Amino acid sequence: MASRRARPSPEDERRTDGAPVRTCVGCRARTLAADMVRVVARPGDGRSQWVIVPDLRRGMAGRGAWVHPDRDCVATAVRRRAFARALRVVGEVDTRELDRMFTSPTDTEESRDPSHDENGQTN
Ligand SMILES: [Zn+2]
Repeated sequence: MASRRARPSPEDERRTDGAPVRTCVGCRARTLAADMVRVVARPGDGRSQWVIVPDLRRGMAGRGAWVHPDRDCVATAVRRRAFARALRVVGEVDTRELDRMFTSPTDTEESRDPSHDENGQTN
């Protein structure tokens, strides 16, 4: 019964076609790694002990966590402190970098233009 080999770590999981999959720390769904964002923890500047930053090139050293590029997943992970747990860090973590990445920075500026009225059909 005990003939099972050690399980592969979550970061080594692959689909049957060989494509690597990762578990989202927010919604816990497993998705192709290519569709997700890897994040790592870097030492903070004193205000927070750790800063969670996106590792867009996936080359940063250290333990990584994976999340969908989706505000809801990030928010859920923040609420559950899932980043800290997945990255094995203790203390306050700063996720503003991620918030900024997944929030449109032009949200407030462009939504108040009354002359922007395109109801005409151009067929
Ligand atoms: Zn997710």
